[in-house]
Amino acid sequence: MTRIAFIGLGNMGGGMAANQARAQHAVAAYDLSPEALERAVSAGCHAAESVAEAVREAEVVITMLPAGSHVRAVYADEILPNAAKDALLIDCSTIDVESARAVAAWAVAEGFRFADAPVSGGTAAADAGTLAFMVGCEADVFAAVEAALAPMARVVIHAGASGAGQAAKICNNMLLGVSMLGVCEAFALAEKLGLEAERFFEIASKSSGQCWSLTAYCPVPGVGPQTPADRGYAGGFATAMMLKDLKLAQDAAAKAGATTPMGAQAEALYALFDGLGYAGKDFSAVIEMLRGRLSALA
Ligand code: NAD
Repeated sequence: MTRIAFIGLGNMGGGMAANQARAQHAVAAYDLSPEALERAVSAGCHAAESVAEAVREAEVVITMLPAGSHVRAVYADEILPNAAKDALLIDCSTIDVESARAVAAWAVAEGFRFADAPVSGGTAAADAGTLAFMVGCEADVFAAVEAALAPMARVVIHAGASGAGQAAKICNNMLLGVSMLGVCEAFALAEKLGLEAERFFEIASKSSGQCWSLTAYCPVPGVGPQTPADRGYAGGFATAMMLKDLKLAQDAAAKAGATTPMGAQAEALYALFDGLGYAGKDFSAVIEMLRGRLSALA
């Protein structure tokens, strides 16, 4: 049994903390939202009154917060001044690479072990304990990080030094956004050319256009395996989340001097779709915008 502090019990953190409690760890949980905290308690966690109280006795501290500004503030003001120096600190939020590296530097300067460990997989994977973690940390810290994440994970991969987990996450999601838009455009063109969606799926799945967005997450209802398209684009990976990750990728590209015009185009298209009122729809629903059929979306 490990004493774990879990900070941030929202859509993702709630299920993740529950899986740590299910694995018989002692989880001291904290969230600004009383409702989120209550849900964590009913899943077997203990409620802490503050971040400081949650982390004071912890051997492992896990954070799952909205963005870089929250992570910087919670670590600087509450975790680093109150946690024991031998505690292992793991931030699982999706944030900018710069903030991840800054927080890692502060933590290491104070003698802590720190890892950035963003996840792939949505709330269903968080609830089921089947998330994929991409980890940025020193090589000699990785084994402890892997063990701490195990109750929440399908796979834990060491991406490299501090910030590498966040870098892997935004590069992967930029690729996903671009490939989904490519798949959507191809189906929209196929339709205009009178090609049946199912026939096109069968052919492209076995040809050089094959990719995950096509074969595992097809944006056309009734084609391929069950996906959010088959339930009105509800659930899945929300457009707002994809847009957040595309913005992080563009921000990182600008700072690093990388040329990412397809990523920029994907950000612009998802910003348009989000602005039209579809932030909560699965990101594959963007096909209806490209087909000129937004009215089909409830
Ligand atoms: P969420 O908004 O549901 O949860 C965030 C929680 O953090 C909220 O409950 C909020 O009250 C809490 N919080 C904010 N500031 C706090 C503070 N100072 N102290 C304590 N608690 C605080 O968000 P989410 O969907 O759970 O996402 C969390 C992170 O995971 C984000 O970085 C997101 O990009 C990433 N992510 C989300 C998904 C997804 O499908 N939802 C998938 C992969 C990664």
